[in-house]
Amino acid sequence: MTKKSPSASPAFSVREFFARFPDEQACLEHIMAVRFGGTKLDCPSCGAEGQFHKLRDRRVYACPNCLFQIAPTANTILHDTRTPLVSWFYAMYLFCTTRHGVSGKELQRQLGVTYKTAYRIGQQIRILMSKAQGFDALLAGHIELDEAYVGGRRSGGKRGRGAPGKTIVMGLAQRGGRMKAVVIPDVKKDTLRDVVLDNVEPGSVVSTDELYSYNLLTGDGFKHGAVKHGRKEYAHYDYRLGETFHVNTVEGFWKLFKASVRSTHIQISGKHMQRYLDEFTFRASNRHRVNGMFDLLVGAL
Ligand SMILES: [Zn+2]
Repeated sequence: MTKKSPSASPAFSVREFFARFPDEQACLEHIMAVRFGGTKLDCPSCGAEGQFHKLRDRRVYACPNCLFQIAPTANTILHDTRTPLVSWFYAMYLFCTTRHGVSGKELQRQLGVTYKTAYRIGQQIRILMSKAQGFDALLAGHIELDEAYVGGRRSGGKRGRGAPGKTIVMGLAQRGGRMKAVVIPDVKKDTLRDVVLDNVEPGSVVSTDELYSYNLLTGDGFKHGAVKHGRKEYAHYDYRLGETFHVNTVEGFWKLFKASVRSTHIQISGKHMQRYLDEFTFRASNRHRVNGMFDLLVGAL
């Protein structure tokens, strides 16, 4: 008999959420736990270990010995907010549990705040998701690459881009691992090559479509295979390398992203695109652990 790990379930129901974070104090204590290791700690001022107590009506804890104060929300987006912490936490919860993203309208309804406040909260959470990704580490192993053209309204303004009004984006998926997506200015060879050099560990296996010419990556020491979508080829097995080349993971990601933008966000300008990409790759990279996702966000505050 194999025992099922208690952490195996990624579910984090609304009921569990409100059991865990019923009020302002519970949220504040969680931030103390994530950022300072709890409310029982060695005082940074007097050095004595003690149970810090919360000051009434303030987002502040004080040392029992010397009254030194710690504000768990200091230097975070939550410090001066007049929106209750439970609302912020619930917004983060919604962002972690959705598949299609959370629109400003939806947040406005769920939190009972103005649209302006809801929109701002949404953008702040996207920034947190971006911070929480730990983008410095390179992808390694077998990486799929695929570009897409997203968003945009044809506003007539010529901006020197290949596709009018659209933003060109490149997605990178490490099989069985993390995802990244970046806005790129064009699909010139040097641009494509730079995306790989900036994000992928040298020597990795790389699957692309025919946009990437063979020499482009093998010359840099990658094991490269391209599927010829133009010829209706969607995967091929290279018996010499023992690898199956396809970009289905990234294609699935772009399909979800485009459908989500259409259904919830209506228009995303090129200027804001990276934030939305970060939101969606954050979820894709952490899809197996909703609870973990939530804690990563709090940790990135
Ligand atoms: Zn103290």
